[in-house]
Amino acid sequence: MNRTLTSITPALLARLQKRTPLLWLNPALGSALPEGSPCAADIDEADARLVRCAGLMAHLFPELQSSAGLVESPLIRVEKLQQSMGNTTEPDAAWFIKSDHALPIAGSVKARGGFHEVLAFAEKLALEHNVLAHDGDRRVLAGDAARELFAQYTVSVGSTGNLGLSIGVMAAALGFQSVVHMSTDAKAWKKDRLRNCGVQVVEHAGDYAEAVAAGRAQSLADPKGYFVDDENSLMLFLGYAVAARRLATQLAALNRPVDAAHPLFIYIPCGVGGAPGGITFGLKALFFEHVHCFFAEPVASPCMLVQLAAGETAPVSVYDLGLDNRTEADGLAVGQASHLVSPLMQSQVSGVFTVTDEQLYVHLHRVAQTEGVLLEPSAAAGFDGPRWLTRSDEGQAYLRQQGLERHMASATHIVWTTGGSLVPREEHEQFQARGQVLAAQGELA
Ligand SMILES: *Cc1c(COP(=O)(O)O)cnc(C)c1O
Repeated sequence: MNRTLTSITPALLARLQKRTPLLWLNPALGSALPEGSPCAADIDEADARLVRCAGLMAHLFPELQSSAGLVESPLIRVEKLQQSMGNTTEPDAAWFIKSDHALPIAGSVKARGGFHEVLAFAEKLALEHNVLAHDGDRRVLAGDAARELFAQYTVSVGSTGNLGLSIGVMAAALGFQSVVHMSTDAKAWKKDRLRNCGVQVVEHAGDYAEAVAAGRAQSLADPKGYFVDDENSLMLFLGYAVAARRLATQLAALNRPVDAAHPLFIYIPCGVGGAPGGITFGLKALFFEHVHCFFAEPVASPCMLVQLAAGETAPVSVYDLGLDNRTEADGLAVGQASHLVSPLMQSQVSGVFTVTDEQLYVHLHRVAQTEGVLLEPSAAAGFDGPRWLTRSDEGQAYLRQQGLERHMASATHIVWTTGGSLVPREEHEQFQARGQVLAAQGELA
């Protein structure tokens, strides 16, 4: 066995290997961030970049005109879903979904980090080549001089699908050459959609990490190549972190305070960790110990759980445990967590729970039935969160430790739904049919 696994308790290791859904609590929650970690000023900068590029975005994507060029999603109260899944003894707690499945253009949470990184690269190039002045209107990036410049460069990325959609579409819209390296688990419709946008799709026989490695190597060999490195990108991370400020504004508008007497719980699907990590980092910078962030991972791919539980700086992968990293949740099919993000999450994430593929389909079906919201499997991973927290021994231990039991009636629970609005109708129909069958079997069992 891999040496680093010895720091995971045998009981936890056995449950992970048996693929039993579980909630793991992070013993290092609240410790100090590593030296040299990003800070609030870095999030300010990302936030400011998205604001100053809003005019450009509205110009490039007419569907953003109604939001003045900001890419944002609604925070929706989900009372019917809460009634069907929730704990009826806590009637005043409120469940919401943060609907990143409906983020415009990219249809997933990847719009946040991906657009930010491509915009940052475009600004940098244009500044260096005197196509853009420092305080100049960013709409110049859609002009002829900028396009001529960008056409000489290739933006590439390795992805299981959604990051490719985000980067590919944004890069192509600005006139970059664009290449997306995809793993075998990437869905056919995602590849087709990219090709239709003029993006070159390269398919790799291996998993997500292999697609990333191949893309990275190819891009490094190209002097005019720029690689968006999902395993190690600060620009992605900071783009995700901006979501926290937007969410804070939405919570305030809905009169949902976040403080000692009003805890905020976030449940968010985790792949390599960039999206949930960046969002958590942003939320912690605003709400400190009053926000409690839990990640959701497939039982076959609990890469962040394993890395954090091992507590090692050396990388640990789910393959080291004998897990196969095969899941219908293509966005979460990652064997090894980001080495940029996992050290930051060591002090910030409250815990990680795991979910079977069957549960994903049951949730996705229930959410469609109760709220009319259509999700892809990855995006349904967070819905067991409130149940884990309030009805498991581990969750109750967490609430006791944190002194939260008497405040649960005034809690806000947010399940982050991370993708789905671009999924073709026939695929949704298949997801729903499968969820319906599994839900019926569950009721019979
Ligand atoms: C990418 C993705 C995630 C997780 O984001 P990571 O940055 O990989 O952790 C969750 N849900 C969906 C639908 C995704 O595409």
